[in-house]
Amino acid sequence: MGKVVVVGGGVIGLSTAWELRRRGADVLVLDARTAGFAASAVNAGWVSPAMAGPVPAPGLVKTSMKWMLNPESPLYIKPRLNPGFLSWLYRFWRSCNEKAYEAGLEATTILGKETMEIMDRWQTEGVEFEMHDFGLLYAYRDIVAMEADLHAFQKVTPYGYAQPTPLYGADLQAFEPVLSASLAGGYHVKEERTVQPVTLVQGLIAALEHAGVEIRNGAPVVDIEVSNGRAIAVRTPAARIEADHVLIAAGAWTAHFGKMVGAKLPIEAGKGYGLDFKPAPVKPQRSIYLHDERIAITPFNDGLRLAGTMELSGISDAIMPRRVAAIEKGGKKYLNGFAQDARPQQTWVGMRPMAPDGLPVLGMVPGVSNVSVASGHAMLGVTLAAVTSVQMAELITTGATPDVLKPFSPARFRGFF
Ligand SMILES: Cc1cc2nc3c(=O)[nH]c(=O)nc-3n(C[C@H](O)[C@H](O)[C@H](O)COP(=O)(O)OP(=O)(O)OC[C@H]3O[C@@H](n4cnc5c(N)ncnc54)[C@H](O)[C@@H]3O)c2cc1C
Repeated sequence: MGKVVVVGGGVIGLSTAWELRRRGADVLVLDARTAGFAASAVNAGWVSPAMAGPVPAPGLVKTSMKWMLNPESPLYIKPRLNPGFLSWLYRFWRSCNEKAYEAGLEATTILGKETMEIMDRWQTEGVEFEMHDFGLLYAYRDIVAMEADLHAFQKVTPYGYAQPTPLYGADLQAFEPVLSASLAGGYHVKEERTVQPVTLVQGLIAALEHAGVEIRNGAPVVDIEVSNGRAIAVRTPAARIEADHVLIAAGAWTAHFGKMVGAKLPIEAGKGYGLDFKPAPVKPQRSIYLHDERIAITPFNDGLRLAGTMELSGISDAIMPRRVAAIEKGGKKYLNGFAQDARPQQTWVGMRPMAPDGLPVLGMVPGVSNVSVASGHAMLGVTLAAVTSVQMAELITTGATPDVLKPFSPARFRGFF
Protein backbone atom coordinates (compact mmCIF):
# COMPACT_ATOMS: atom_id res chain seq x y z
CA MET A 1 0.00 0.00 0.00
CA GLY A 2 1.44 3.37 -1.03
CA LYS A 3 0.70 6.82 0.29
CA VAL A 4 -2.88 7.72 1.20
CA VAL A 5 -3.69 11.42 1.46
CA VAL A 6 -6.78 12.03 3.59
CA VAL A 7 -8.43 15.36 2.80
CA GLY A 8 -10.22 16.57 5.93
CA GLY A 9 -9.40 15.95 9.57
CA GLY A 10 -12.87 15.57 11.04
CA VAL A 11 -13.97 12.44 12.88
CA ILE A 12 -14.40 10.59 9.57
CA GLY A 13 -10.96 11.46 8.14
CA LEU A 14 -9.17 10.88 11.44
CA SER A 15 -10.82 7.55 12.21
CA THR A 16 -10.20 6.27 8.69
CA ALA A 17 -6.58 7.42 8.96
CA TRP A 18 -6.35 5.35 12.15
CA GLU A 19 -7.72 2.20 10.52
CA LEU A 20 -5.47 2.71 7.48
CA ARG A 21 -2.44 3.11 9.72
CA ARG A 22 -3.35 -0.11 11.58
CA ARG A 23 -3.21 -1.84 8.20
CA GLY A 24 0.25 -0.43 7.58
CA ALA A 25 -0.58 2.37 5.14
CA ASP A 26 1.52 5.51 4.88
CA VAL A 27 -1.07 8.19 5.72
CA LEU A 28 -1.06 11.99 5.62
CA VAL A 29 -4.04 14.01 6.86
CA LEU A 30 -4.53 17.51 5.47
CA ASP A 31 -6.95 19.98 7.00
CA ALA A 32 -7.84 23.43 5.72
CA ARG A 33 -8.14 24.76 9.27
CA THR A 34 -7.46 22.74 12.42
CA ALA A 35 -8.20 19.03 12.40
CA GLY A 36 -10.98 18.04 14.78
CA PHE A 37 -12.51 21.50 15.10
CA ALA A 38 -15.46 21.42 12.69
CA ALA A 39 -18.78 19.58 13.11
CA SER A 40 -16.89 16.73 14.71
CA ALA A 41 -16.21 18.77 17.84
CA VAL A 42 -19.49 20.59 18.36
CA ASN A 43 -22.00 17.76 18.09
CA ALA A 44 -24.09 16.07 20.77
CA GLY A 45 -21.74 13.10 20.97
CA TRP A 46 -24.37 10.41 20.64
CA VAL A 47 -23.40 7.06 19.31
CA SER A 48 -26.87 5.97 18.33
CA PRO A 49 -26.85 3.24 15.67
CA ALA A 50 -30.26 1.94 16.78
CA MET A 51 -32.00 5.13 15.66
CA ALA A 52 -30.26 5.68 12.37
CA GLY A 53 -33.02 6.51 9.89
CA PRO A 54 -32.21 9.03 7.15
CA VAL A 55 -33.26 12.67 7.66
CA PRO A 56 -35.68 12.68 4.68
CA ALA A 57 -38.56 10.71 6.18
CA PRO A 58 -42.25 10.21 5.40
CA GLY A 59 -44.19 13.16 6.81
CA LEU A 60 -41.19 15.48 6.92
CA VAL A 61 -42.47 17.66 4.08
CA LYS A 62 -45.67 18.44 6.02
CA THR A 63 -43.83 19.04 9.33
CA SER A 64 -41.18 21.20 7.71
CA MET A 65 -43.80 23.40 5.99
CA LYS A 66 -45.18 24.11 9.45
CA TRP A 67 -41.70 24.71 10.87
CA MET A 68 -40.74 27.09 8.07
CA LEU A 69 -43.27 29.61 9.38
CA ASN A 70 -41.71 29.66 12.84
CA PRO A 71 -38.32 31.36 13.30
CA GLU A 72 -37.68 29.31 16.45
CA SER A 73 -38.38 25.94 14.82
CA PRO A 74 -35.75 23.22 14.44
CA LEU A 75 -35.53 23.59 10.62
CA TYR A 76 -34.66 26.56 8.41
CA ILE A 77 -34.17 26.54 4.66
CA LYS A 78 -32.65 29.73 3.30
CA PRO A 79 -34.23 30.52 -0.07
CA ARG A 80 -31.50 30.32 -2.73
CA LEU A 81 -31.86 30.36 -6.49
CA ASN A 82 -28.75 28.26 -6.95
CA PRO A 83 -29.57 25.49 -9.49
CA GLY A 84 -27.41 22.92 -7.65
CA PHE A 85 -29.19 23.62 -4.37
CA LEU A 86 -32.65 23.56 -5.97
CA SER A 87 -31.84 20.22 -7.54
CA TRP A 88 -30.56 18.94 -4.17
CA LEU A 89 -33.75 20.17 -2.47
CA TYR A 90 -35.95 18.50 -5.07
CA ARG A 91 -34.15 15.19 -4.52
CA PHE A 92 -34.44 15.65 -0.77
CA TRP A 93 -38.22 16.11 -0.94
CA ARG A 94 -38.45 13.12 -3.32
CA SER A 95 -36.64 11.00 -0.74
CA CYS A 96 -39.26 11.75 1.93
CA ASN A 97 -41.17 8.53 1.29
CA GLU A 98 -41.69 5.25 3.08
CA LYS A 99 -39.79 3.07 0.60
CA ALA A 100 -36.62 5.19 0.49
CA TYR A 101 -36.71 5.69 4.25
CA GLU A 102 -37.06 1.97 5.02
CA ALA A 103 -34.26 1.04 2.61
CA GLY A 104 -31.99 3.74 4.09
CA LEU A 105 -32.79 2.71 7.66
CA GLU A 106 -31.98 -0.92 6.93
CA ALA A 107 -28.69 -0.16 5.16
CA THR A 108 -27.56 2.24 7.88
CA THR A 109 -28.55 -0.10 10.71
CA ILE A 110 -26.57 -2.93 9.11
CA LEU A 111 -23.59 -0.61 8.59
CA GLY A 112 -23.75 0.60 12.20
CA LYS A 113 -23.93 -2.82 13.86
CA GLU A 114 -20.28 -3.03 14.92
CA THR A 115 -19.86 0.57 16.05
CA MET A 116 -19.54 -0.11 19.78
CA GLU A 117 -17.20 -3.04 19.30
CA ILE A 118 -14.82 -0.93 17.20
CA MET A 119 -14.92 2.00 19.60
CA ASP A 120 -14.10 -0.35 22.47
CA ARG A 121 -11.20 -1.70 20.42
CA TRP A 122 -9.92 1.84 19.82
CA GLN A 123 -9.74 2.38 23.56
CA THR A 124 -7.74 -0.80 24.03
CA GLU A 125 -5.42 0.39 21.25
CA GLY A 126 -4.67 3.60 23.13
CA VAL A 127 -7.16 6.05 21.60
CA GLU A 128 -8.25 7.89 24.74
CA PHE A 129 -11.68 9.53 24.93
CA GLU A 130 -14.62 10.07 27.25
CA MET A 131 -17.37 7.52 26.61
CA HIS A 132 -20.54 6.74 28.58
CA ASP A 133 -22.84 3.74 28.34
CA PHE A 134 -25.81 5.34 30.12
CA GLY A 135 -28.04 5.02 27.03
CA LEU A 136 -30.27 7.57 25.42
CA LEU A 137 -33.66 8.67 26.71
CA TYR A 138 -36.22 9.87 24.16
CA ALA A 139 -38.78 12.20 25.76
CA TYR A 140 -42.04 13.37 24.19
CA ARG A 141 -44.85 15.83 24.75
CA ASP A 142 -46.77 14.11 21.97
CA ILE A 143 -47.66 10.61 23.11
CA VAL A 144 -49.00 9.62 19.68
CA ALA A 145 -45.61 10.40 18.12
CA MET A 146 -43.90 8.44 20.90
CA GLU A 147 -46.02 5.36 20.34
CA ALA A 148 -45.46 5.57 16.58
CA ASP A 149 -41.68 5.79 17.10
CA LEU A 150 -41.74 2.89 19.55
CA HIS A 151 -43.69 0.84 17.06
CA ALA A 152 -41.17 1.72 14.35
CA PHE A 153 -38.36 0.60 16.67
CA GLN A 154 -39.42 -3.00 15.98
CA LYS A 155 -37.67 -2.66 12.62
CA VAL A 156 -34.27 -2.56 14.28
CA THR A 157 -34.78 -5.19 17.00
CA PRO A 158 -33.67 -7.96 14.58
CA TYR A 159 -30.24 -6.26 14.62
CA GLY A 160 -29.67 -6.86 18.31
CA TYR A 161 -31.45 -3.96 20.04
CA ALA A 162 -33.98 -4.68 22.79
CA GLN A 163 -37.45 -3.19 22.25
CA PRO A 164 -37.61 -0.31 24.78
CA THR A 165 -40.38 -0.19 27.37
CA PRO A 166 -42.64 2.88 27.24
CA LEU A 167 -42.46 5.17 30.27
CA TYR A 168 -45.64 7.20 30.74
CA GLY A 169 -45.98 10.38 32.83
CA ALA A 170 -44.75 9.85 36.38
CA ASP A 171 -42.76 6.77 35.34
CA LEU A 172 -40.68 8.96 33.03
CA GLN A 173 -39.99 11.46 35.84
CA ALA A 174 -39.14 8.63 38.23
CA PHE A 175 -36.67 7.26 35.69
CA GLU A 176 -35.09 10.67 34.99
CA PRO A 177 -36.04 13.11 37.77
CA VAL A 178 -34.52 16.07 35.95
CA LEU A 179 -37.32 15.95 33.34
CA SER A 180 -40.32 18.24 33.62
CA ALA A 181 -43.72 16.75 34.46
CA SER A 182 -45.06 18.45 31.31
CA LEU A 183 -43.48 15.67 29.24
CA ALA A 184 -45.97 12.92 28.55
CA GLY A 185 -43.70 9.96 28.04
CA GLY A 186 -40.54 8.47 26.71
CA TYR A 187 -38.37 5.41 26.37
CA HIS A 188 -34.80 4.51 27.08
CA VAL A 189 -32.58 2.91 24.43
CA LYS A 190 -30.01 1.35 26.69
CA GLU A 191 -27.57 0.19 24.01
CA GLU A 192 -26.79 3.74 22.80
CA ARG A 193 -23.67 5.46 24.03
CA THR A 194 -22.35 8.99 24.36
CA VAL A 195 -18.86 10.32 23.74
CA GLN A 196 -17.41 13.73 24.48
CA PRO A 197 -16.71 14.52 20.82
CA VAL A 198 -13.77 16.85 21.42
CA THR A 199 -12.03 14.12 23.40
CA LEU A 200 -12.73 11.63 20.60
CA VAL A 201 -11.10 13.73 17.87
CA GLN A 202 -8.28 14.79 20.18
CA GLY A 203 -7.76 11.14 21.18
CA LEU A 204 -7.58 10.09 17.53
CA ILE A 205 -5.14 12.92 16.73
CA ALA A 206 -2.88 11.97 19.65
CA ALA A 207 -2.94 8.27 18.73
CA LEU A 208 -2.26 9.01 15.05
CA GLU A 209 0.66 11.30 15.86
CA HIS A 210 2.02 8.70 18.26
CA ALA A 211 1.81 6.17 15.39
CA GLY A 212 3.81 8.53 13.16
CA VAL A 213 0.97 9.94 11.05
CA GLU A 214 1.37 13.58 10.08
CA ILE A 215 -1.71 15.77 10.49
CA ARG A 216 -1.09 19.01 8.66
CA ASN A 217 -3.30 21.93 9.74
CA GLY A 218 -3.77 25.11 7.70
CA ALA A 219 -3.33 23.03 4.55
CA PRO A 220 -6.42 23.53 2.34
CA VAL A 221 -6.43 21.22 -0.65
CA VAL A 222 -7.03 23.48 -3.65
CA ASP A 223 -6.62 20.93 -6.43
CA ILE A 224 -6.39 17.21 -7.13
CA GLU A 225 -4.21 16.50 -10.16
CA VAL A 226 -5.67 13.74 -12.33
CA SER A 227 -3.84 12.04 -15.17
CA ASN A 228 -5.20 9.12 -17.24
CA GLY A 229 -8.09 8.61 -14.83
CA ARG A 230 -5.85 8.50 -11.75
CA ALA A 231 -5.13 11.10 -9.09
CA ILE A 232 -1.39 11.67 -8.96
CA ALA A 233 -1.09 14.51 -6.47
CA VAL A 234 -2.98 17.00 -4.36
CA ARG A 235 -2.08 20.64 -4.12
CA THR A 236 -2.25 23.00 -1.18
CA PRO A 237 -1.15 26.65 -1.49
CA ALA A 238 2.21 25.61 -0.01
CA ALA A 239 2.92 22.20 -1.53
CA ARG A 240 2.33 19.59 -4.21
CA ILE A 241 1.93 16.21 -2.52
CA GLU A 242 2.11 13.00 -4.51
CA ALA A 243 -0.47 10.38 -3.61
CA ASP A 244 -1.27 6.77 -4.46
CA HIS A 245 -4.78 7.17 -3.11
CA VAL A 246 -6.81 10.22 -2.13
CA LEU A 247 -9.64 9.92 0.38
CA ILE A 248 -12.04 12.86 0.43
CA ALA A 249 -13.41 13.22 3.95
CA ALA A 250 -14.14 16.92 3.90
CA GLY A 251 -17.58 16.89 5.52
CA ALA A 252 -19.86 19.66 4.27
CA TRP A 253 -17.08 20.89 1.93
CA THR A 254 -17.05 17.63 -0.04
CA ALA A 255 -19.02 18.79 -3.12
CA HIS A 256 -16.15 21.07 -4.03
CA PHE A 257 -13.80 18.05 -4.39
CA GLY A 258 -16.26 16.23 -6.61
CA LYS A 259 -15.99 19.15 -9.02
CA MET A 260 -12.17 18.91 -8.93
CA VAL A 261 -12.27 15.34 -10.24
CA GLY A 262 -15.34 15.69 -12.48
CA ALA A 263 -17.80 13.76 -10.28
CA LYS A 264 -21.08 14.70 -8.63
CA LEU A 265 -20.91 14.63 -4.85
CA PRO A 266 -24.00 16.70 -3.97
CA ILE A 267 -23.45 17.41 -0.31
CA GLU A 268 -24.99 20.44 1.38
CA ALA A 269 -24.31 21.88 4.81
CA GLY A 270 -26.94 21.27 7.49
CA LYS A 271 -25.94 23.76 10.11
CA GLY A 272 -26.49 23.06 13.81
CA TYR A 273 -25.57 24.66 17.10
CA GLY A 274 -24.07 23.39 20.33
CA LEU A 275 -24.35 25.33 23.60
CA ASP A 276 -21.94 24.45 26.41
CA PHE A 277 -22.78 25.08 30.05
CA LYS A 278 -19.87 24.55 32.47
CA PRO A 279 -20.30 23.41 35.16
CA ALA A 280 -23.57 21.64 34.36
CA PRO A 281 -26.51 23.69 35.67
CA VAL A 282 -28.51 20.43 35.97
CA LYS A 283 -27.29 16.87 35.95
CA PRO A 284 -29.33 14.40 33.92
CA GLN A 285 -28.26 10.80 34.46
CA ARG A 286 -28.07 10.13 30.73
CA SER A 287 -28.35 11.78 27.30
CA ILE A 288 -31.86 12.97 26.48
CA TYR A 289 -33.63 13.82 23.23
CA LEU A 290 -36.52 16.26 23.50
CA HIS A 291 -38.36 14.90 20.51
CA ASP A 292 -40.90 17.66 19.90
CA GLU A 293 -38.29 20.43 20.11
CA ARG A 294 -35.59 18.31 18.40
CA ILE A 295 -33.11 19.25 21.12
CA ALA A 296 -30.26 16.98 22.21
CA ILE A 297 -29.16 17.19 25.85
CA THR A 298 -25.82 15.65 26.68
CA PRO A 299 -24.16 15.41 30.08
CA PHE A 300 -20.35 15.31 29.88
CA ASN A 301 -17.88 14.92 32.75
CA ASP A 302 -17.29 18.66 32.86
CA GLY A 303 -20.63 20.17 31.83
CA LEU A 304 -23.83 20.00 29.84
CA ARG A 305 -24.27 20.48 26.10
CA LEU A 306 -27.53 21.38 24.38
CA ALA A 307 -27.54 20.90 20.62
CA GLY A 308 -30.00 21.26 17.81
CA THR A 309 -31.44 22.95 14.72
CA MET A 310 -30.93 22.17 11.07
CA GLU A 311 -30.32 25.12 8.78
CA LEU A 312 -29.90 24.57 5.07
CA SER A 313 -28.28 27.91 4.43
CA GLY A 314 -24.99 27.03 2.77
CA ILE A 315 -21.59 27.01 4.44
CA SER A 316 -21.24 29.87 6.88
CA ASP A 317 -20.27 30.25 10.51
CA ALA A 318 -22.97 32.88 11.04
CA ILE A 319 -25.05 32.25 14.15
CA MET A 320 -28.79 32.99 14.12
CA PRO A 321 -29.43 34.21 17.69
CA ARG A 322 -33.16 33.36 17.67
CA ARG A 323 -32.42 29.71 16.90
CA VAL A 324 -29.75 29.50 19.57
CA ALA A 325 -32.16 31.13 22.03
CA ALA A 326 -34.82 28.54 21.09
CA ILE A 327 -32.46 25.68 22.00
CA GLU A 328 -31.61 27.31 25.32
CA LYS A 329 -35.29 28.01 26.05
CA GLY A 330 -36.23 24.38 25.31
CA GLY A 331 -33.55 23.07 27.67
CA LYS A 332 -34.63 25.38 30.45
CA LYS A 333 -38.30 24.60 29.98
CA TYR A 334 -38.00 20.82 30.18
CA LEU A 335 -35.14 20.33 32.65
CA ASN A 336 -36.15 20.90 36.28
CA GLY A 337 -33.82 23.20 38.18
CA PHE A 338 -32.17 24.76 35.10
CA ALA A 339 -31.76 28.36 36.27
CA GLN A 340 -33.35 30.83 33.85
CA ASP A 341 -30.31 33.10 34.13
CA ALA A 342 -27.75 30.35 33.39
CA ARG A 343 -25.83 31.30 30.24
CA PRO A 344 -23.75 29.07 27.96
CA GLN A 345 -19.99 29.64 28.22
CA GLN A 346 -19.67 28.86 24.56
CA THR A 347 -21.95 28.57 21.52
CA TRP A 348 -20.66 26.50 18.64
CA VAL A 349 -21.71 26.16 15.05
CA GLY A 350 -21.13 23.03 12.94
CA MET A 351 -22.02 21.89 9.41
CA ARG A 352 -23.52 18.43 9.03
CA PRO A 353 -22.64 16.98 5.62
CA MET A 354 -26.00 16.20 4.00
CA ALA A 355 -26.63 14.20 0.84
CA PRO A 356 -30.09 14.66 -0.69
CA ASP A 357 -31.21 11.13 0.21
CA GLY A 358 -29.89 11.54 3.75
CA LEU A 359 -27.46 8.63 3.42
CA PRO A 360 -23.69 8.64 3.80
CA VAL A 361 -21.63 8.74 0.61
CA LEU A 362 -19.03 5.99 0.88
CA GLY A 363 -16.95 4.39 -1.81
CA MET A 364 -14.89 4.99 -4.92
CA VAL A 365 -15.51 8.23 -6.79
CA PRO A 366 -16.70 7.41 -10.32
CA GLY A 367 -14.26 8.28 -13.09
CA VAL A 368 -11.03 8.23 -11.04
CA SER A 369 -9.56 4.89 -10.10
CA ASN A 370 -7.82 5.89 -6.88
CA VAL A 371 -10.03 8.53 -5.26
CA SER A 372 -12.59 7.56 -2.63
CA VAL A 373 -15.03 9.54 -0.54
CA ALA A 374 -16.39 9.15 2.99
CA SER A 375 -18.87 11.89 3.78
CA GLY A 376 -22.56 12.75 3.99
CA HIS A 377 -23.04 11.33 7.48
CA ALA A 378 -25.58 14.03 8.34
CA MET A 379 -26.71 13.53 11.98
CA LEU A 380 -24.72 10.30 12.35
CA GLY A 381 -21.06 11.15 11.80
CA VAL A 382 -19.96 10.24 15.31
CA THR A 383 -22.23 7.21 15.38
CA LEU A 384 -20.92 5.84 12.09
CA ALA A 385 -17.28 7.01 12.20
CA ALA A 386 -15.94 3.73 13.57
CA VAL A 387 -17.74 1.49 11.10
CA THR A 388 -17.07 3.88 8.22
CA SER A 389 -13.37 3.86 9.01
CA VAL A 390 -13.06 0.07 9.08
CA GLN A 391 -15.01 -0.45 5.84
CA MET A 392 -13.26 2.40 3.99
CA ALA A 393 -9.85 1.15 5.10
CA GLU A 394 -10.82 -2.28 3.77
CA LEU A 395 -11.88 -0.74 0.44
CA ILE A 396 -8.75 1.40 0.12
CA THR A 397 -6.30 -1.33 1.05
CA THR A 398 -7.89 -4.21 -0.90
CA GLY A 399 -9.57 -2.39 -3.80
CA ALA A 400 -12.77 -4.40 -3.20
CA THR A 401 -15.94 -2.64 -2.03
CA PRO A 402 -17.36 -4.39 1.06
CA ASP A 403 -21.03 -5.39 0.55
CA VAL A 404 -22.09 -3.27 3.49
CA LEU A 405 -20.92 -0.12 1.65
CA LYS A 406 -22.78 -0.82 -1.58
CA PRO A 407 -26.01 1.08 -0.71
CA PHE A 408 -23.88 4.18 -0.08
CA SER A 409 -22.05 4.28 -3.40
CA PRO A 410 -21.25 7.76 -4.77
CA ALA A 411 -22.18 6.38 -8.21
CA ARG A 412 -25.84 6.90 -7.25
CA PHE A 413 -25.43 10.59 -8.12
CA ARG A 414 -24.43 10.03 -11.75
CA GLY A 415 -26.55 12.31 -13.90
CA PHE A 416 -27.33 14.56 -10.94
CA PHE A 417 -27.68 18.18 -12.04
C1 LIG B 1 -25.24 20.40 16.40
C2 LIG B 1 -24.83 19.04 15.88
C3 LIG B 1 -25.11 17.91 16.63
C4 LIG B 1 -24.75 16.65 16.16
N1 LIG B 1 -24.92 15.56 16.95
C5 LIG B 1 -24.49 14.33 16.54
C6 LIG B 1 -24.59 13.21 17.39
O1 LIG B 1 -25.03 13.30 18.54
N2 LIG B 1 -24.17 12.00 16.92
C7 LIG B 1 -23.67 11.85 15.67
O2 LIG B 1 -23.37 10.72 15.28
N3 LIG B 1 -23.52 12.92 14.85
C8 LIG B 1 -23.91 14.15 15.25
N4 LIG B 1 -23.76 15.24 14.44
C9 LIG B 1 -23.22 15.04 13.10
C10 LIG B 1 -21.70 14.92 13.12
O3 LIG B 1 -21.15 15.94 13.89
C11 LIG B 1 -21.18 14.99 11.69
O4 LIG B 1 -21.84 14.05 10.87
C12 LIG B 1 -19.70 14.67 11.65
O5 LIG B 1 -18.99 15.47 12.56
C13 LIG B 1 -19.13 14.86 10.24
O6 LIG B 1 -17.76 14.59 10.31
P1 LIG B 1 -16.80 14.84 9.08
O7 LIG B 1 -15.46 14.36 9.47
O8 LIG B 1 -17.43 14.29 7.85
O9 LIG B 1 -16.84 16.44 8.88
P2 LIG B 1 -16.17 17.64 9.68
O10 LIG B 1 -16.08 17.38 11.12
O11 LIG B 1 -16.89 18.86 9.22
O12 LIG B 1 -14.69 17.66 9.12
C14 LIG B 1 -14.40 18.03 7.79
C15 LIG B 1 -13.01 18.64 7.79
O13 LIG B 1 -12.66 18.91 6.43
C16 LIG B 1 -11.84 20.06 6.45
N5 LIG B 1 -11.78 20.66 5.11
C17 LIG B 1 -12.73 21.38 4.46
N6 LIG B 1 -12.26 21.82 3.28
C18 LIG B 1 -10.98 21.36 3.17
C19 LIG B 1 -9.96 21.51 2.19
N7 LIG B 1 -10.13 22.24 1.08
N8 LIG B 1 -8.77 20.92 2.42
C20 LIG B 1 -8.54 20.20 3.54
N9 LIG B 1 -9.47 20.06 4.51
C21 LIG B 1 -10.68 20.63 4.33
C22 LIG B 1 -12.53 20.96 7.48
O14 LIG B 1 -11.65 21.98 7.96
C23 LIG B 1 -12.93 19.97 8.54
O15 LIG B 1 -11.98 19.87 9.59
C24 LIG B 1 -24.11 16.52 14.89
C25 LIG B 1 -23.81 17.66 14.15
C26 LIG B 1 -24.15 18.92 14.63
C27 LIG B 1 -23.79 20.13 13.81
